[in-house]
Amino acid sequence: MIAHCIRRYFTFFTMTALALVAGCSQESNEPQETATAPAFSATANVTDQALINAPNEAEEWLSYGRDAGETRYSPLNQVNQFNVSELGVAWTYDTGTFRGLEATPLVHNGIMYATASWSIVFAVDARTGEELWRYDPQVDRSMGWKACCDVVNRGVAIYGDKVFAGIIDGRLVALNAATGEVEWSVVTVDQSKPYTITGAPRVADGKVLIGNGGAELGTRGYLTAYDPDSGDEVWRFWVVPGNPADGFENGDVETAAATWAGDWWEVGGGGNPWDSIIYDPELRLVFVGTGNGSPWSHEYRSNGIGDNLYLSSIVALNVDDGSVVWHYQTTPADNYDYTAVQPLMITEILINGLPRKVVMQAPKNGFFYVLDAETGDLMYADPYARVTWATGVDLESGRPIETPQARYDNSISLITPGPSGAHNWHPMSFSPETGLLYLPSMHDAAFRYAIDENWEYEPSGWNLGIGLGTMADRPFREDDRYAEGTGPTYDSPGVLIAWDPVAREPRWTREYDFTINGGTLATAGNLVFQGAADGYLRAFTADLGELVWEVDLGVGIMAAPMTYELDGTQYISVMAGWGGSSGLIGPNSSGAYKPEGRLWTFQLNGNEIVPVEGQPLPALTVIEYNDDPGVLAHGEDMYFTHCMLCHGFGGASGGALADLRYAAPATYDIIQNIVREGAYAGRGMPNLGHLLSEDDVDAVKNWVLSLRAGLME
Ligand code: CA
Repeated sequence: MIAHCIRRYFTFFTMTALALVAGCSQESNEPQETATAPAFSATANVTDQALINAPNEAEEWLSYGRDAGETRYSPLNQVNQFNVSELGVAWTYDTGTFRGLEATPLVHNGIMYATASWSIVFAVDARTGEELWRYDPQVDRSMGWKACCDVVNRGVAIYGDKVFAGIIDGRLVALNAATGEVEWSVVTVDQSKPYTITGAPRVADGKVLIGNGGAELGTRGYLTAYDPDSGDEVWRFWVVPGNPADGFENGDVETAAATWAGDWWEVGGGGNPWDSIIYDPELRLVFVGTGNGSPWSHEYRSNGIGDNLYLSSIVALNVDDGSVVWHYQTTPADNYDYTAVQPLMITEILINGLPRKVVMQAPKNGFFYVLDAETGDLMYADPYARVTWATGVDLESGRPIETPQARYDNSISLITPGPSGAHNWHPMSFSPETGLLYLPSMHDAAFRYAIDENWEYEPSGWNLGIGLGTMADRPFREDDRYAEGTGPTYDSPGVLIAWDPVAREPRWTREYDFTINGGTLATAGNLVFQGAADGYLRAFTADLGELVWEVDLGVGIMAAPMTYELDGTQYISVMAGWGGSSGLIGPNSSGAYKPEGRLWTFQLNGNEIVPVEGQPLPALTVIEYNDDPGVLAHGEDMYFTHCMLCHGFGGASGGALADLRYAAPATYDIIQNIVREGAYAGRGMPNLGHLLSEDDVDAVKNWVLSLRAGLME
């Protein structure tokens, strides 16, 4: 029994990038009022030429990845390997949110623009952190369950005199950069479906681009270009085809449809491009990374037939009309949640001794890809993590060489990477001086994949087609444990890899005790900055990976640091706020309980760095409960099925949401109203009356109370 439980806990623990049930939206703070008044005035004027010149304009940070190629390399070197240890606090800004922070702040004309949880957008004086304005889109908190991976946001775009932000409920808003007032707002999705937006909009040739998420929930993904002045739609790229009987939107959709089988449109299709979009002004191509299939199982999605374009692909689009110029599918017939939405980067590297403009990506599937940016020709595909679904990629055909267990059946295939991927959205950076790319990678234990024979499509539900809930009872595949894989293994789950894209191997690595760590920033000071799950911000020498600075900020860091210069002073900024998929279900690795997310800015000879403190845990009082083993076992079962992915692993959310063990006694008295009648819907707890009976809720309550009693022993 103990072994069974441990195994089951372990299975859930390896699923940290997943949130499979409804209800992840509670937050203790009340929504802020919309549009606080500007404290001072500022103007923005970001032109196409300014975006093109960005690599050489070291003072500002005008777009998500700093330059068009999103290399996240800054030529600033006032802060360098020799003086980085003298960094102190320039200023901080408390976000007023307690959920995950993933944004890269932008800096233009002395103003910093960033986003917090619940798609809140704010502008502050980049010298002092003084708030200029704050915009709260007033998202309906009870809809937070649509966000698989927390109500996060990765930042804004600036163009002309406007700031553009995607909102978690599917809106794209254009704000006046000086005042934060809404210039226009468009709904980019069918809001009756579980679409979300977490990514930063990008600007390409005078258009604002935004995608969406929702591939686990049966949606059909797409990328849309909007006119920045009017908000009118300019074009849309559909990642996967819809029902052919409705007619194809364009020739690209028709081409894609030939790679599908069965009635895929009835189960969604997926492919949602929720993160990477880059634009190359010379080639006039927009590059988008596309998402996984919905459901995950190729068998259920497409009868096990066809590559299912354009899932899990890097797609180059004509910026004028959004038509496909070339595509490269990293995982044909995706069967694993192997998105290719991970950050894309364009730069020049030497291929056979000659400079070549390439697009690079380390998608979830464990291979590092280098493609010719103009033609899409595959140059290299090398494993940066342990990979057991394929033994390599054939550079001639561009196709992976799958292992036998890659096409799993109803027995368990142990496959790595798992659905969390060997790399997720966490930004990577590239230094032209070292020639190294700094990749935050993940190396969790192998994931158990098996077909769920009882799966049925559920509209707006989690649609995976694999048997997560029944895994513990499944046999392993006979051949599984002996299957050949490829790629490096690491002793630690989180590894910063300094990848040499020319030598096609790591130059140096730094290992962490926790899996999910922050994005990276490379600077001309021979530095690489990275925040980590343990709440520390660190700097390493870019060439050798020596640790030269580390400070405890008190709260886990996921976002990438950025840097800018004002009045001759170089600043380093990072957003620290724990959350995301693992933050919802696991404790804060920094150890703090529900700490507030904070935007930090550092400068040489700044002030003392005092870590964020968590909130005090409420005092516990004795509450009687039913300790019948059958009731407790049922409660535990129901908790893991319906509550765990928001309220935490093992009943103990030290993550983004309330820890149920510490609830006020009166809360347990109204637990039926809360769970089955939606009493806390306004605070983000959805009504689960259709999923849980009165007895189920009672059993969960008793199990949670047994854990509470355990805390007092
Ligand atoms: Ca996914």
